[in-house]
Amino acid sequence: MMIRANDPSLSSWVEVAADSDFPIQNLPFGVARVKKEKAIVVSIIGDFIIDLTVLAEHGFFEDLGFDVRVFERNTINDFISIGKEKTSKVRDRLSLILDMDLDDWDASELKNYFLIPKDQVEMLMPMHIGDYTDFYSSIDHATNVGTMFRDPDNALLPNWKHLPVGYHGRSSSIMVSGTPTIRPNGQQKPNDEPPVFGPSKLLDFELEMGFVVGKETSLGDQVPVDEAENFIFGLVILNDWSARDIQKWEYIPLGPFLAKNFQSTISPWVVTLDALQPFKVDGYTQTPEVLPYLRQKNIKNYDIKLEVAIQPKGANPTTVCNSNFKYMYWTMSQQLAHHTINGCNIRVGDMYGSGTISGPEKSMYGSMLELSWKGTKPVSLENGEERKFINDFDTVIMRAHGEKDGVRIGFGECSSQVLPAKETV
Ligand code: CA
Repeated sequence: MMIRANDPSLSSWVEVAADSDFPIQNLPFGVARVKKEKAIVVSIIGDFIIDLTVLAEHGFFEDLGFDVRVFERNTINDFISIGKEKTSKVRDRLSLILDMDLDDWDASELKNYFLIPKDQVEMLMPMHIGDYTDFYSSIDHATNVGTMFRDPDNALLPNWKHLPVGYHGRSSSIMVSGTPTIRPNGQQKPNDEPPVFGPSKLLDFELEMGFVVGKETSLGDQVPVDEAENFIFGLVILNDWSARDIQKWEYIPLGPFLAKNFQSTISPWVVTLDALQPFKVDGYTQTPEVLPYLRQKNIKNYDIKLEVAIQPKGANPTTVCNSNFKYMYWTMSQQLAHHTINGCNIRVGDMYGSGTISGPEKSMYGSMLELSWKGTKPVSLENGEERKFINDFDTVIMRAHGEKDGVRIGFGECSSQVLPAKETV
């Protein structure tokens, strides 16, 4: 069924630049501090933040049957919790209010109250993330890493094509775009020498997408793979910062720990799964066939273009990677079905990282580890410098958007500057 707000023929009386991430067909949700006052739930069109509390006060959502005080919160969790049926109606209602052809509701008088220029607000963490799980679901990424560190002929471990490999991450250190990232200290192990301690020398980004859980389950429940999308509210860009030298020494035998939990960065807008429906594309044919609980009737990925740029202090950014979310081997639905098959419960606001998203070409690798091939092939920047990994004061900027029928649905920016490591006490 066509979602009203997705109609490509819609245009708004709010002027939106052709290359904007936020046309009338997007209408993502986030949290902003407006004029240094308290945080509220907002949406965005073009260069304007939409204050949902003002629209609620004027009765625009009155007939939708939920407590509009969910917009007066510093996270979108309570809003998500009203259920997808209602949150979808809120997005459709916004679309109706902003529609060019609308003449029976005179929104023009109100517009100075509910539209706020985006440079007048501070974007905050959109949701409270109770639990964060990170997967390892890109076949090109897993193959590259296996080739580098193990055996090119057996790059994928025996379990990889049978289950979406993942681990439980840390949610307290997930920060919104714009928050600096402090280089972590930690143990590293030079070859044939005892371990040493100090700032990570191999700080890396990981280009990922994160999906946000929209509906809770109880302990013991399982999310069927073909119903899993009903449990996903929307997506963000995720930079899952990684310290490769710390990772290499600590990960055996239990997996990632301090190399990953010092910080991750997300984009401030949660783009709804509804808005991304036009970008569904076929996924990989999975061979060997997966177990029945992972067998998705129509394996669908999302065609979302991804890019990463590195901006040294005082210089222009250089794009170092162009990848796409469609290169995922395991889908979000399979990840969620697998995560709950043992009865593990999920809660609204939980976030799931896709794992680094690399594509088949070298220009599509989603980490410096792969782009510089373990530091053996430095990456050239526009200002003449080279990078094997990320330097202090570099800003890493990630962007994502889908484009179809002249409509561009974007995510804004996921950006963070690396600051020097703290001195150790
Ligand atoms: Ca990761």
